[in-house]
Amino acid sequence: MSRCIFCDIKDNPDNIVVQNELAFAIYDKHPVSKGHILVIPKRHFDSFFEATEEEIVSLYQLINECKKIIDEQFSPSGYNVGVNVGYDAGQTVFHLHIHLIPRYKGDTTHPVGSGIRHIKD
Ligand code: 5GP
Ligand code: ZN
Repeated sequence: MSRCIFCDIKDNPDNIVVQNELAFAIYDKHPVSKGHILVIPKRHFDSFFEATEEEIVSLYQLINECKKIIDEQFSPSGYNVGVNVGYDAGQTVFHLHIHLIPRYKGDTTHPVGSGIRHIKD
C-alpha cells in the first residue's frame, strides 16, 4: 500500500481539524490565505477521478463543515474550491486533496481572473 505525507498526517490526530469515516481535513502548511484547508480522503490515491461516490459524499460533507469553521473563525467574503489533478495541473502531493481557500475583500486588487481559472507562463 502506498503512503505519503498526508497518510502520515492522517495517523496523527493533532493535525486534524475535522474528520468522518472516509475523509479528514487539515490546515495547509503553506496557506494561500488565512484559513486555507485541505480536505482529503483517508484512502491513498492520487486523482479526484478515482474517488468513489461514498468518498465524494464524505469529502463534500467535510467541505461544508470546514466552511462553517472558517466562516466562524475568519469571516471570509468568498471561497475558491479546487483540485489539482496531475503534475501538469500543478499537483505536488499525489494523494487527492481538495483545496478550500477562503478569500477576503481586497486580498487582490483585481478579483476577476484571480480565481481557479488563472494560468500563467
Ligand atoms: P497541490 O499543489 O498538490 O494541489 O497541493 C499540495 C498542498 O499541500 C500545498 O498547498 C502544500 O502547501 C500542502 N502541503 C504540503 N506538505 C504539507 C504538509 O506536510 N502539511 C500540510 N498541512 N500541508 C502540506
Ligand atoms: Zn497518502
